[in-house]
Amino acid sequence: MNSKDFFIHKANNFKERIEQFDVSHIGFWEMDSDSNVFTYNSKFYKQFNLDASGISLDDWVQLIHPDDRTKFVNELKEHKTFDAEFIVSDYRVLNIEGHYIWIEEQRKRDICFDGQILGTHRDITLLKENESDLYSEVYIDNISKLPNAKKLIKDLEDDFVDERSGTLVFIDLSHLNYMLTVYGQAFIDSLILEATKIINNIFASTFDIYRFIPFVFSFKANQSITENQLEMLCNQLESELSQLNIAFELSSEVIYKAVMMSFPQEESFPTCEDMFNRMFLTLEELKDRKGMLSVYTNSVEKRIHRKMFIETNLIKALEDQEIYPVYQPIVVSSEDGLLGFEALCRWNNPNWGPIYPDEFIVVAEKSGAIIRIGKFMIDKACSFIHTYNKLNKTDISVSINVSVVELSNPGYFAYLRSTVDKYHIKSSNLIIEITESLMLDDNTNVLKQLGKLKADGFGIAIDDFGTGYSSINTIFSTPITELKIDRGVMLKISSQTIVFDFIKSLVDLCHKNNILVVAEGIEDNEMMDISLKLNMDYLQGYKFSKPLILDKALEFIGH
Ligand code: C2E
Ligand code: CA
Ligand code: CA
Repeated sequence: MNSKDFFIHKANNFKERIEQFDVSHIGFWEMDSDSNVFTYNSKFYKQFNLDASGISLDDWVQLIHPDDRTKFVNELKEHKTFDAEFIVSDYRVLNIEGHYIWIEEQRKRDICFDGQILGTHRDITLLKENESDLYSEVYIDNISKLPNAKKLIKDLEDDFVDERSGTLVFIDLSHLNYMLTVYGQAFIDSLILEATKIINNIFASTFDIYRFIPFVFSFKANQSITENQLEMLCNQLESELSQLNIAFELSSEVIYKAVMMSFPQEESFPTCEDMFNRMFLTLEELKDRKGMLSVYTNSVEKRIHRKMFIETNLIKALEDQEIYPVYQPIVVSSEDGLLGFEALCRWNNPNWGPIYPDEFIVVAEKSGAIIRIGKFMIDKACSFIHTYNKLNKTDISVSINVSVVELSNPGYFAYLRSTVDKYHIKSSNLIIEITESLMLDDNTNVLKQLGKLKADGFGIAIDDFGTGYSSINTIFSTPITELKIDRGVMLKISSQTIVFDFIKSLVDLCHKNNILVVAEGIEDNEMMDISLKLNMDYLQGYKFSKPLILDKALEFIGH
């Protein structure tokens, strides 16, 4: 008996013994170098309609699910070639009822007999089903059935570990959020479901799609995507979502915001947390702007850092005296005289350079820091009035800009009064500038405060007239002493006679109501001549002077 025959004899003996047991969940098998498979327990292999006495490898391979077949064949080939350890693999096999069941195969090459492989098959269908239930519980979003944020994190982490480059896109549809309170959760869910279909149709051929958080979808591709490519897909999304709006009878327009970031950035792979932070910051930054799409780059990062710096350092900047006032002269139009100055805020930081009020005032209003900045400006303005008038033996006034947050503060009036007293100046030396938009809010509390201030002698000006939507009615029903015409309007006057006529009659109306008129942003002789023709009382602009630091302002005495 040669070694092979001996082996087969032994195997048949073993087979007889095994058949005594009812092992229906596990199959034992061996394969010789000619790919003949001996199965030890017929009961297990009956479910595949395979002859218990012996099958060929090909019969088995034919039953394997087409998606798993190549992997199986390749792995086996490798196993036959190399002395591998125990190999465990899962794949699906078609049973007699026409269903695929999950099989776990364990096999080991027998080094005593050339090419011989021993192994077991185990039915793990139940285990897999549990696993997939668990998988969907953890990784699938319930409503859209799309993979969720956890899955995105897992996939990205795999990409980063394997150093696979790619592109990540977030599309934010959070404008739908407002509908939640109006239409309820069930409506939103059905809307999301329809939106998911659209998103799948448009993006699935380029990206893996995830529902990251309720109103933010994520898209990942392991290739680089250009801004143009994404823009085209987004345009299609916008037009199909607006069709959806019509179908759902929604009157709102589609507002989406999309941000894109490629990885790695500058050859280094970020962490997921890092990447999401940057994506969301870019999204936030985009929400403050008109555009629909933003690509994360270093310059976006710089803008974001600057904004973050502004948001977190305002109070410190005030304490470190990085914030200070400058004073822009306001001149009397008919003569050489000087009405006074407008106090404007400046912030100069050693690292970030000059930061202008257009950047930081809105931030300060949101955070409430404007209250402290406002108090600081009031104090500086009053101190300046005192010093200037004493030094130059004059009676000039200074305008300060006030935001609604400050005016709504109950202590505002008392602070003004006490600061004016502290510097021994008259309340009429201080003019409070408020913007038109502030009047639109129909804020009775603000109106009350203004009434009190005017009664106490403070000047009150409406600033930036012509940039908002205030009606003549609002102007004359507000207790004001001054109206400031915005530079934008002044520019239009020279080219449009209708604007000229309108402003002319407005100036007349103001004069009849004891309201003085200031023309802002006068840069040249032409604008100055027009202002004179319009009977403007005062002029302000670069033609006369740019805003000046304290020492220079104290020296400025006229034009
Ligand atoms: P504003 O009150 O309309 O101030 C006038 C702005 O126009 C100033 O800009 C000034 O530098 C600029 N300007 C003056 N003359 C000319 C000119 O001839 N041509 C042009 N192109 N511009 C001119 P600035 O200082 O950057 O201030 C911007 C805005 O920030 C101010 O607009 C005001 O609304 C706000 N702001 C400034 N300081 C404060 C403050 O202390 N508190 C509050 N709440 N707002 C402030
Ligand atoms: Ca102003
Ligand atoms: Ca202004």
